[in-house]
Amino acid sequence: MSEMGTPRRRATLVMFSAGIDSTYTLVRLLQETDDEIYAHHVHMVNVENRHEVEARRSRAIAEHCMKTIRKFHYSETSIDHRNMRWFGYDIISVGFEAGIVAHSFHMARKRPMDRWTIGTCEEEGHDEERFAHVLAACAANCYPTPPPAFFLLPLIPKAEEIAYLPRPVVELCWTCRRPVAQADGPPAECGTCKTCKLMLKIRAERGTSTADAEK
Ligand SMILES: [Zn+2]
Repeated sequence: MSEMGTPRRRATLVMFSAGIDSTYTLVRLLQETDDEIYAHHVHMVNVENRHEVEARRSRAIAEHCMKTIRKFHYSETSIDHRNMRWFGYDIISVGFEAGIVAHSFHMARKRPMDRWTIGTCEEEGHDEERFAHVLAACAANCYPTPPPAFFLLPLIPKAEEIAYLPRPVVELCWTCRRPVAQADGPPAECGTCKTCKLMLKIRAERGTSTADAEK
């Protein structure tokens, strides 16, 4: 309860990439909890050059969900590793930025963020041992306050995540790791990266064509 005696809603941070997994996580939490939701998108700027299309899709999904589901907080920050040969692990940057958002929330609201999450699916899983480094990166940016609790929704296959999402939202998702620049118009999916291969398989099973939200 707050000082005013009104129940305090749980504040939940969703690290949001505009891919299927994190979009599913965001939509599910919006639809099935009363939490105060903070969705945060990180521009992962590197030689893969997918940050521009991801940012457009991220904003479009946020706008659509606010109109059709409910209002939530949306923010963005950037990590730019273009000058380095090694562009780092995205998931470590996600943890680092989650700590920035959580600490900022604490400063603004005079209370800690309650919990945070990411998107993943049954196929991609969750490597607890590796994720310890992500939690450490988040904790480092919350210091000296303890970091928010990390949680995951139950992992389900990507096809089930897609089936759960409203169709216009699925079409706004961006999944390719290495978008191919086109002379006229938006980038195309590469068709060969890890997530493209998985998406091709899922789309074939569902009998749908490629994502075409920008065509
Ligand atoms: Zn691809």
